[in-house]
Order: sequence, then C-alpha cells, then structure tokens
Amino acid sequence: MDYIRTEADGQLTLTQSTECLVLPSCQYGFHNTETTVVTAKSGRIIYCHRGTLDIPEDERICSCGQRMHVNSHPDIYIRHLNIGGNLSGLLFPHNQLRCRECGKTKSQFISFKADGHLITEALHQYVRDLLAAGTYTNKQAAELTGLDKNVIKAIDKKRLQEFYTTNGGTKLIKPEKQAKYLGIDEFKLHNGRRYATHIIDLETGHVLWIQNGKKKQVVYDFIEHVGLEWMDGVEAVACDMNSDFQEAFEEMCPWIQPVFDYFHIVKNFNDKVVSEVRKDEQRRLYEEGNIDAARALKKTRYILMSNRSTLQKKDEDAASERVIHKGSPLFKTEDIKRKSGYEAKYDELLKENKLLFTLDLIKEKLSSAYSLRDEALMAEAIIDIIDICTATGNKHLLWFGKLLDSHFEGIIAHATYKISAGKIEGINQKIKTLRRHGYGYPDDEYFFLKIMDMSRKPYVRNQPSHKFID
Ligand SMILES: [Zn+2]
Repeated sequence: MDYIRTEADGQLTLTQSTECLVLPSCQYGFHNTETTVVTAKSGRIIYCHRGTLDIPEDERICSCGQRMHVNSHPDIYIRHLNIGGNLSGLLFPHNQLRCRECGKTKSQFISFKADGHLITEALHQYVRDLLAAGTYTNKQAAELTGLDKNVIKAIDKKRLQEFYTTNGGTKLIKPEKQAKYLGIDEFKLHNGRRYATHIIDLETGHVLWIQNGKKKQVVYDFIEHVGLEWMDGVEAVACDMNSDFQEAFEEMCPWIQPVFDYFHIVKNFNDKVVSEVRKDEQRRLYEEGNIDAARALKKTRYILMSNRSTLQKKDEDAASERVIHKGSPLFKTEDIKRKSGYEAKYDELLKENKLLFTLDLIKEKLSSAYSLRDEALMAEAIIDIIDICTATGNKHLLWFGKLLDSHFEGIIAHATYKISAGKIEGINQKIKTLRRHGYGYPDDEYFFLKIMDMSRKPYVRNQPSHKFID
C-alpha cells in the first residue's frame, strides 16, 4: 500500500493508488479525495475521509431569484459507519451561502446527515437497528459504534417517542387493540422513595399507561386517555387489595369487576402475616429463654414462605441425587447435590408451633381456592379461611381475615375471570432488570418509554429499517 507519513504524530495519509481499497461512499454528492488514518485517544483507529460536497445549482438560487455566493466554508466532520472494528468519518468544507442582493444567508444542505446529530443517516439507522433488536444495552451500542452514550440515548429516546407517542411526544399512543382484562400495579422508581403506576393489557402483556404516583388520579387520567367507549369493552381489572385503584375504576366505570389476584394475595400474606408471626414467635421464644429454638426459627424464613410442593420437589431431587451445581476439576470445585429433609424440617417446625401450622394450612387453602372455577365454591373456601383466621385470635391473622372479608367480592370474582397475575409479575421483574441497567437514571420519561417498549418485545417485533432490493 502506498502511504505517506505526515508530520502529525501517528497519522497516515493514504493516497489514491491501485493498491488502495476504494469503497463507494454512497453519500450523495460527496467526493473522497484522500483518507487519513488517525489513532483516537481511546486507541481506536479512525479512517478520516477528506473530500468535497457538490452544491446543486438550484440550491444556490436565493428565494429572491438571485444566485447566492459562497461566503465561507468551515470544515465539518460527520461520523459515518464503522469499517470492521475501525471508526470512520467524513471531513469536508461546509459551504455557507450568502445573497448579495437581499443579504439572506444559509448553510449548504447535507442530504446524508442525520437530523440533530453530527453523524450520517446511515450510521443513525444502524444505531436504531442495534437498539431495536433489544439485545444491546446503550453502553454496548456506544462501544460498538464509537458514539457517546448520550448520543445513543438521544437516538433511542427519539425512536421510542416515534413508536409510543403522538402530538410531538406530548401524548402516549392509544392502546393498539381493545383490552378485556386490565392489570394495575405500582413500582418503585430508582431512588426507591417515589412510585409510579402502570396499567397493562393482561392478554397481550402490553403496558398501556405509566404515570408518576400511586393515587386514584392515575386511573382517572388513563380513562380520559382511552375514552369511555374503549373502557366499555373492559370487563375486569386485577389489582392489589392495598390500593384504592379499584375504587377509582368503580366510580368511573361501574360495570368493571375488580379482581384480587393470587399473586397479590400471597404477597400480602407472606409480607404481612408470615413474616410478622415468625418475628413474634422468635421474640416469645427468646423471652422464654428458649434460645436454641429461637435461633432455629431465624433461619426458617425461606422454608415458611415456600409451598409444601416446592419442598417436596427438593426432597425428591435429593433422593434421586440430582446435581444442582456442577463442579469443575479445573477450579477444584466439587459437584453439589441437593440436601434432603426440607419437608421434615418444615413438619418439625409446625409440630412445635400450632400457629405456624395454621399459616401452612391457610396457604394450602388459598392455593386450592384460587384454582376453583365456580364462585359459590370459591366463596365457601374463602369463608372457611376467614373462619380459621378468626379462630386463632392472632392479630396478624385477624387483620388478614378482615382483608379477605372486605375484598370478598373481588376475590371470588377470580373464579369467573381467568386472570393470571403472571403478566403483572413478569412486567415487575422486567422493570427491575431495566433499572439495574441504569436506563432509568435520571430521565423518567426515557425509562417509562423503555418499559412500554420491552413489554411489547415478545409480541410485536420492530419493523426492520430497510429491505434488500429485489
Ligand atoms: Zn436573495
């Protein structure tokens, strides 16, 4: 290859020769005259293509009819697609035109430059494709393209705004289809003190609405957004018992049946009853001087929160010597096999403590009640649970019994409306993952758009940006 070393350190200028690989630039009007190989501070190679840009004759005609003159031509540098692992850019004089007749000035139009960025439209589209695939984090996309992560974020946010907003980004799009069942739930924002609420279509899993806060206003605003005609098609909404969302839905749309789903019931029971009873028991044992028993109870949080079937499964794994962790001779680690005795330990705990046994019983009964498809049968099963709670006289169980009683209708409605809480739980998991990747910080709007996008991922693929020519 024929090259000349220039004075500038580390720069090589390639001249046109038969040994030089010549690529068409595909950038309309751009003529490459020489290419310099520059090493960036990061150590990456940049092919800097110097050249010129044609000015079409009609662009030089001023609105007043006179021919404009080139006033000045400062250099402009525009990042272009990578060549393999190396970066590339176009460097050329950017003509500034001035009319001597009326004094009007303008910059030469660059047809291949992306709006709002010093990058080519081709590179812009490539970044959008990377982001649309959903495989890369913004940081990875920045590393691949050599662009700043703020540029990547700006491109991604614009992309999401095009998909999910109207009115120049000021309004969310209407739901793509009529929903029959909605789910509403709140989630923590990155600082952990503020909350936001999302409303999803339980059949498609699409997040339809996100709003700051966890007040009834979220529901009012959502209903205003979709309109009462659309709400007419909604039959039921799944929500947590500890919210007043269902009241807001009932006020505005009396035909909608609130349903309290299994996921939220069990969450309430574990967090507010099992944990509290366990702590009380531990305290009691300490006070009675039964230190060993109190210590034993301390390590049982997991066992008490599990279902008996989960524990049985673990014991079965142990019986069949299932390897749960593969060892490696390379790193001198050994296979770990499942220990047995989960269920036995559970039974031992229950034997020692009548109250823990009751918790176990209630959990089993809740699980079987929620598998029923007949409201009358489910009502019987729930009343049975309320009676057990009352009979214990324990304050946490009395609270839970009252909770079931005051939400009775919405609980037994579960038998009619086949609402699975899996979609809500899945969305909450995905939100946590997104927050870990740092998308949420510090731009809530971008974070919320990202949530809307990822909820649609398995269902609607983003359209590829270009097709090969037939
Ligand atoms: Zn003019």
